[in-house]
Amino acid sequence: MIRGGCLCGGVRYEISGELSEICFCHCQMCRRIHGTPFGSYAAVRPEQRRYTSGEELIAEYPSSAGAVRTFCSRCGSKLAFENSQTPEEIWITAGTFDGDPGVRPGSHIFVGSKAPWYEITDDLKQSPEDS
Ligand SMILES: [Zn+2]
Ligand SMILES: [Zn+2]
Repeated sequence: MIRGGCLCGGVRYEISGELSEICFCHCQMCRRIHGTPFGSYAAVRPEQRRYTSGEELIAEYPSSAGAVRTFCSRCGSKLAFENSQTPEEIWITAGTFDGDPGVRPGSHIFVGSKAPWYEITDDLKQSPEDS
């Protein structure tokens, strides 16, 4: 079981089963909402995630048609990206995992929108847009 949560500890979740890989997203929306050069995510099926506390603290921002970014309304931690056009997966923010989720980064996506001041220096797969 993989566990995680927000900075203030109000929102806690657990993930059952395996994760495939961690993905770094360089799109402008991820850069802005995380305040970092890229967002880091692990995709899971909705039934793999269960909130164990703080569900009432979760707020969401509709960042594009059909898609929301959820965050803790008390501390601001980003929790997930969820798109109704791809309901079979939700993207959990990898920085909120407690320990080692057992998977490693596998790809950079939306590198066409990459911050000009950030240079990718690893050998992971890169895609100009999604996957
Ligand atoms: Zn919080
Ligand atoms: Zn993105």
